[in-house]
Amino acid sequence: MGIIITIDGPSGVGKSTVSRILAKILGYRYIDTGAMYRGVAYAFVASGYSLESIDDGRMETFLNGLDLEFHFDDTASVFYRKEDISEKIREPEISLIASKLSQNRKVREYLTGKQREIGRPGGVVLEGRDTGSVVFPDAHVKFFLDADHEERARRRHLELKEKGKEANIDTVKEEISIRDRQDSQRELAPLVRPKDSVYIDTTRLDINGVVEEMLKYILPMVK
Ligand code: C5P
Repeated sequence: MGIIITIDGPSGVGKSTVSRILAKILGYRYIDTGAMYRGVAYAFVASGYSLESIDDGRMETFLNGLDLEFHFDDTASVFYRKEDISEKIREPEISLIASKLSQNRKVREYLTGKQREIGRPGGVVLEGRDTGSVVFPDAHVKFFLDADHEERARRRHLELKEKGKEANIDTVKEEISIRDRQDSQRELAPLVRPKDSVYIDTTRLDINGVVEEMLKYILPMVK
């Protein structure tokens, strides 16, 4: 058992790190919904589909036959045809395809359904763009994390570097701008700040500071 916690916000605000830490502290499952969109994007490309040649019928066929598995505990793993693709889905090319595919109604229905199924029993920290606005609008505690564009690009650049992926900071900044635009302006489940969410600007906070702030809202609910 346990409550449902949602954490939304644009990329590079530290959502994944704080979600993992919170899940560990609380003994909850960490549902990285972005990894689910990335997994679909990876499978889409691996199956030879392209964004230009897809229609609803084809998308449905693709999703129905999809051999994609998600394992969530205090980390998130994604398997495509039994292969662990958890690292591969972090490539910047997959980020952009995931952002494009996430505009598709069939893809959103498919993943939103799975997220509700996994999260409904409670004891979960969900992280993404629409987990508090669409997936679980009645979640017990909702957060919206934000940070300056420069700072988000710096963090994302560092994250890629730590994984041994050299990237140009300007390219990273541009990738973030494109995704921000796509994620905020899309018709379906756009990135919005839910009215009843706790807003935290993480620009000048370190990870511990963000987690501490969040626990102030969570702990009274789980006692
Ligand atoms: O969070 P992450 O950067 O891994 O997400 C990859 C992409 O998946 C996002 O840019 C967004 O387009 C999409 N996404 C979404 N809804 C979510 C989580 C992610 O549309 N709840």
